[in-house]
Amino acid sequence: MLLKNEIVKIEIVDITDEGNGVGKVDGFTIFVPGTAVGDKLRVRLVKLQKHFGYGIIEEMLEPSPDRIEMDCSVYRQCGGCSLRHISYQAELAIKQNWVTQHLRRIGGITAPVLPIIGSPQQDRYRNKTQCPIRDDGQGVCLGMFGKRSHRVIQCTDCKLNPPHFKLILQTVQDFCKEQHISTYNEEKHDGLLRHVYIRDAQATDETMVCLVINGDEIPHSDLLIKQLIANCPSVKSIVLNINKAKTNVILGKTCKTLWGKDHITDILCGVKIELSPLSFYQVNREGAEQLYHIAADFAELTGNELLLDLYCGAGTIGLSMAHKVHELIGVEIIPAAIENAKQNAINNGITNTRFICDDAKGAAAMLKQQGLTPNVVILDPPRKGCEPEVLQTVADMNPQRIVMVSCNSATLARDLAVLQTLGYQTIKAQPVDMFPRTTHVEAIIMMTKCGSEGEK
Ligand code: SAH
Repeated sequence: MLLKNEIVKIEIVDITDEGNGVGKVDGFTIFVPGTAVGDKLRVRLVKLQKHFGYGIIEEMLEPSPDRIEMDCSVYRQCGGCSLRHISYQAELAIKQNWVTQHLRRIGGITAPVLPIIGSPQQDRYRNKTQCPIRDDGQGVCLGMFGKRSHRVIQCTDCKLNPPHFKLILQTVQDFCKEQHISTYNEEKHDGLLRHVYIRDAQATDETMVCLVINGDEIPHSDLLIKQLIANCPSVKSIVLNINKAKTNVILGKTCKTLWGKDHITDILCGVKIELSPLSFYQVNREGAEQLYHIAADFAELTGNELLLDLYCGAGTIGLSMAHKVHELIGVEIIPAAIENAKQNAINNGITNTRFICDDAKGAAAMLKQQGLTPNVVILDPPRKGCEPEVLQTVADMNPQRIVMVSCNSATLARDLAVLQTLGYQTIKAQPVDMFPRTTHVEAIIMMTKCGSEGEK
């Protein structure tokens, strides 16, 4: 019988998909954050439940060979990275295992899982940050929420972000202090500035600064504009996002351009991509190029196909393949993203496209009713995965191939299992790491219609 506060000896044998190490004491599972496979430790038990418990490191007896020097002063408090203390090679092996286990255990998928493809950059790879800003009574704090908390950890130079984000964040923080701009208080639902959201178009060196406010304007905004463009010359767009709702959702639905353009333009897989603040865009640009090349490979396009890109965002995946298909239809629920997608087709001289702003379920049902028979469907849903009706309608449209792209291999596995009951088989899975140092990993799947020629 284990007791709270008891100290036990443990060897870490696995890492969960939340980033906690796993060890056993007499067959009883203990999760220990901040550990690596092979660590031998003395652990203090801090929480015990019926079938498992949690411990914290009391003493390191023998460190794992996977461990590397921690190079971030806020790593332990911050909720962003979870695998910074582990070599990237070991991180990739862990992520390979997560994807494989989810597919096998949740989906019963036995298809081969190809060796994971790593991110070209392991640090400074992000093109986007959304930093909460709060005043806890001790002064204005700007950075990241702490692990499982809404306390802001001061950090303007996150190692996952490009160095110039720091200039922007510090400019906004100093401006708030000097001009006495109030910051948001979640409990009281008052105060003005909620988040500082920055997005970079890395290929063109254009930066957008979006200030999320619980109000309609920022006092002395002319001064802030001047300071931002003086301190960070790549800033080409400064936007206000109005979010007056009592919610954890970061962005509101309305944007107002304060200065410069209302969008920035990146280049992805050779396609110019306009992005407004509300449009989804992959945070790791070089990683996304790898991902889209694999998606194109799995789609096996010949030039004759009708390609349906459900959950298309600003049109990025479909547009990168438009030259290889007869027609592309994209579906996306966010109006600003669909506007971007349409404009992106025009800006790139791509004319064989149709973009529909609708919920995937409704749009798929409508397209099916119109008798649409896509040859290939790309499904790239948000983390919660696809609704069962979407999967049913896609299967009813009878495409030869389905390419699924997902940043959540648990919901992916669930959705693949559904498609397998609807006449599709999983041919292969390719994990791609787009989010080094964090517990996130992307995966791409090729499925073919059972009995079709693509079957292997
Ligand atoms: N394929 C795009 C976007 C993928 S992210 C890319 O690679 O950039 C998932 C997208 O699905 C987001 O743009 C989100 O706005 C959209 N989305 C979420 N729920 C949806 C729904 N019910 N119907 C259609 N699109 C939805």
